[in-house]
Amino acid sequence: MSNGPERLGLVLVVCGPSGVGKGTLLARLRRQYPNFAFSVSCTTRAPRPGERDGVDYQFVTRERFEALRAEGHFAEWAEVHGNLYGTPKAPVREHMAAGRDVIFDIDVQGALQLREHFPDGLYVFILPPSMTVLEARLRGRGTDSEEQVAKRLKNAIGELRQAGGFDYLVVNDDLDVAYDDLRAVYKAGRLAARRQPTLLDDLLAQVPTRGVAS
Ligand code: ADP
Ligand code: 5GP
Repeated sequence: MSNGPERLGLVLVVCGPSGVGKGTLLARLRRQYPNFAFSVSCTTRAPRPGERDGVDYQFVTRERFEALRAEGHFAEWAEVHGNLYGTPKAPVREHMAAGRDVIFDIDVQGALQLREHFPDGLYVFILPPSMTVLEARLRGRGTDSEEQVAKRLKNAIGELRQAGGFDYLVVNDDLDVAYDDLRAVYKAGRLAARRQPTLLDDLLAQVPTRGVAS
């Protein structure tokens, strides 16, 4: 028998323009796989109605964020739509060491930085079926001002231009189809031989060493 986790934790990074449906898809994935760890980011953005400090984000002042950044607290950080966002390093390492998979909902700049720390992760980009649908979803969510919507749409174009650097592209048109596609990427990642290092050895350890025809 081996010590340590039977599977190594997996990094699943989900990116895409604001309003494309990342939060919706990830909430579903977390409901289906409750053992998933979610990387709770720090942000200087104000909480939206219903968001909980320490669960959705750690909401901090810009001063506090900058102090944490100077201490090397973040695996990656970025300024998005005028607010600072960062991924605390320590919890990610702890989850992975314990064999827990970790999901990240971060922007493209952050994903590219994270790739340097976790080159083995699954990097998925969620696309809208069209720009018109993206705009309708942003407005329909009803959480952002007109000015914020305009800023997020402008940013979306820059993000889509960088989507070519991702491993997987998932179009979120029909939510059920997009969810199945995202889940397929995750399931294939989990099945990778390198992520199940003890499986074969444990099975072979059951084979008697003598008396078996080779
Ligand atoms: P993000 O986290 O990428 O900013 P959200 O998950 O908040 O996006 O989704 C933005 C809005 O679009 C929400 O109101 C959500 O309910 C809606 N939405 C997400 N996916 C779909 C879909 N496939 N079809 C229709 N509406 C969707
Ligand atoms: P929102 O304000 O809508 O929650 O998030 C805005 C954008 O910031 C989204 O694209 C989201 O993925 C990204 N984001 C959230 N947390 C982080 C983080 O820790 N790092 C980076 N780089 N981006 C983040």
